[in-house]
Amino acid sequence: MTQWLAKLLIVLSIAVSCEALAAVESVPPEQKWAVSSGVGALLNISFYQPSKPEACLFFFNNFVINSPYPPHSYIGDDGTNCNWTNKFGGQISNYLLATACPVPKVNPDVPYTYLPATNTCERELIYKLKLTPDSATIEPGQSYEFTATVTTLDDKQPSISVSVSVKVEAGASNGGAPPQGEVSPAIGSNTFPIKFTSTQGSGIHTITATCGLCENGPQTVKVIVKAGCPEHASGSPCACDEGYKFNKDKTQCVCPIDPLPDLPADDLCAQSLNKGLGVDVDDKCPKLDDRMLGANGQLQCFANKITAANAMARPQIPYSGPTAKYRNAAYQAHLLNIWKKMIELIKLEDPAEITACAPLRNKVAAEKGCDTDDGCPAACTAGSHCIRNKPATYSNHTQGTAFDVPQNTINGLINELTPLPPAPMSPLKKLQAQRFWIASWLAKPTACNLEWGGNFNDPKPDFVHFQLP
Ligand SMILES: [Zn+2]
Repeated sequence: MTQWLAKLLIVLSIAVSCEALAAVESVPPEQKWAVSSGVGALLNISFYQPSKPEACLFFFNNFVINSPYPPHSYIGDDGTNCNWTNKFGGQISNYLLATACPVPKVNPDVPYTYLPATNTCERELIYKLKLTPDSATIEPGQSYEFTATVTTLDDKQPSISVSVSVKVEAGASNGGAPPQGEVSPAIGSNTFPIKFTSTQGSGIHTITATCGLCENGPQTVKVIVKAGCPEHASGSPCACDEGYKFNKDKTQCVCPIDPLPDLPADDLCAQSLNKGLGVDVDDKCPKLDDRMLGANGQLQCFANKITAANAMARPQIPYSGPTAKYRNAAYQAHLLNIWKKMIELIKLEDPAEITACAPLRNKVAAEKGCDTDDGCPAACTAGSHCIRNKPATYSNHTQGTAFDVPQNTINGLINELTPLPPAPMSPLKKLQAQRFWIASWLAKPTACNLEWGGNFNDPKPDFVHFQLP
């Protein structure tokens, strides 16, 4: 049970017990004289509540007769008098002493009832409760005082202490969260202030006051606590600090560069590839082209060639399978977004914006594998997509006709194919030589029907990529 709920239950139980004690007003009865006007068999008595038959009967049942000839039985009232017969049929005293309840001074419409067992007059009390004003709007951390007023039904002050219990509830705007504010006192009586103090945050809160003796139900007022400024903002209205801008729904101040777009939630292949950092770990993507698969497919052909090369290769060429095979358009777009976003972030010059965008840059760098505006170097951040080249807008991976191998497989293969001792070469000459060596190696029996991404020039060679021609 949360603390505020526990508090609420205590308030309710105290309120219930107070109502039980104070719900009845009790006063002592009065004794009254009545005068008999009749003689003989029919006795007419001018009673002080003649129009109330039950008052006559009450009188008859409760009076103390100051007479040697008491009336015998009650006949009824004639609208003016209470009538009894006298069994002796003779002269009786003119005077009767009766015990009866007084007319209430407060709320006379609610009469007392005489209770012979306790010789008391009692009545249920009825009041009304009002809370003012209807609502208030305050800043976070501020307080506000409402007023609870209990009156009689004719708008006078109660003659007794009328208990009122008070509680506060968070409105729907807080999503059912516990109230972000406190109300005091939890119990008051008659006219008293109810103080609401907001503790944090924003939202609409409802203060409810309940009076068990009141004819109207629980009364409520609303207190609206304004939203405070988010982090990296201040002022009224809130303005973002230098270098920051509001996000779309104006709830946060963030980097002026938009965050990475989310992968489409319903694209299960893209989700699986993203989770597997390029590998379809949840098996949600289409199959590769038939020419790539099976014992005679090009994937197996490549693996066989590495195995064959390793019969001689020292050191061994490491290879335990492709790092990427099928890639769909959404995942390919995600990789390109990461690449472009990193460039956008690195271009920032304003120190305030650089600070504001540091969290986004960290996140994008972690996805890319490095904090640079170019391809990632040999060592990529663990758990990243490790983007070594600018992702193409169009890729053979989306057709299922390409696969990527680990960078260290390519390093090992080139090392193995390079004649010893390696001749000193310009970078271009070296690339041209590598293209020749790998093409020759692929064409040698058993030939693999593959092209090497190292042959690409636009935008750059993609050393880990192989595809069907
Ligand atoms: Zn590739």
